Amino acid sequence: MNAQPHYDLHCHSTVSDGTLTPTAIVERAAARGVDVLALTDHDEIAGLDEARLAAAGAGLRFIDGTELSVSWRDLTLHIVGLGIDPHSAVLVEGMRVIRSGRLGRARLIGKALERVGIVGAFEGAARFAANEQLLSRTHFARFLVEAGHVKDVRDVFKRYLTPGKPGYVEHEWASLADVVNWIHGAGGQAVLAHPGRYKINRQGMRELLAEFRDRGGDAIEVLTSSHTHAQYAEYAGYALHFGFLASCGSDYHGPGESWMDFGDLPPMPPGLTPVWHAWT
Ligand code: AMP
Ligand code: MN
Ligand code: MN
Ligand code: MN
Repeated sequence: MNAQPHYDLHCHSTVSDGTLTPTAIVERAAARGVDVLALTDHDEIAGLDEARLAAAGAGLRFIDGTELSVSWRDLTLHIVGLGIDPHSAVLVEGMRVIRSGRLGRARLIGKALERVGIVGAFEGAARFAANEQLLSRTHFARFLVEAGHVKDVRDVFKRYLTPGKPGYVEHEWASLADVVNWIHGAGGQAVLAHPGRYKINRQGMRELLAEFRDRGGDAIEVLTSSHTHAQYAEYAGYALHFGFLASCGSDYHGPGESWMDFGDLPPMPPGLTPVWHAWT
């Protein structure tokens, strides 16, 4: 282990919209120098047992995690839960409710794409999803690339799957208050994921961070593949100003689909208190 352990506290497996199994995720992270890893599948914890077992074999420390979908004002936010008890009844039930909306949304996305001449998208996306409970826009993106409608996954989001585009469907996820309470009820820490990605002005960001803090939010991601170098500094400043702990994660989804691989995160900027500071 290095003098400074390398933490990566955000990534995805085939249990949500990643392309590697939980075991393969852990093995790749270990091979690329990650010492402490959290698996944070969207609205799901079904990969944690497998990942934990693989981590024990690979000699890295494993943190139970998830990334929950939230509707806040007109935005979708993602809240990562770290150190959660996967057996927590309140969290398990909360995630079940969030997931239950996904199938209906996916059918609506399929219909919306049909209206612009793309047939078979629902069935096509479902073929890419290992977990039928967890159909994601990412699975639609993979189908649209495979079917030759767009050149790569990022282009699909720009052209089809984001607000105002033909395959985007409004959806009501969980509330911010509920999600923070579920994570805390499961003994975990609530982390605002990739804050720089939300389409919001500076005043809106301050309101979001103040509300998240007031509802008990613990940390924000300062280092994430979604942030530019300028945003590392910007969100370090927000963490200090609002008294949040700082988290970091690659948000890795699989080879060829991610901005950043395991091991690529820079060190946490000095002066911040990391989210792991009180972990034993
Ligand atoms: P969903 O939870 O089904 O709405 O899907 C959200 C997922 O889509 C995110 O977790 C990302 O993996 C992916 N995603 C969202 N926006 C983009 C984008 N602009 N480019 C690539 N992937 C994206
Ligand atoms: Mn994702
Ligand atoms: Mn996210
Ligand atoms: Mn993520």
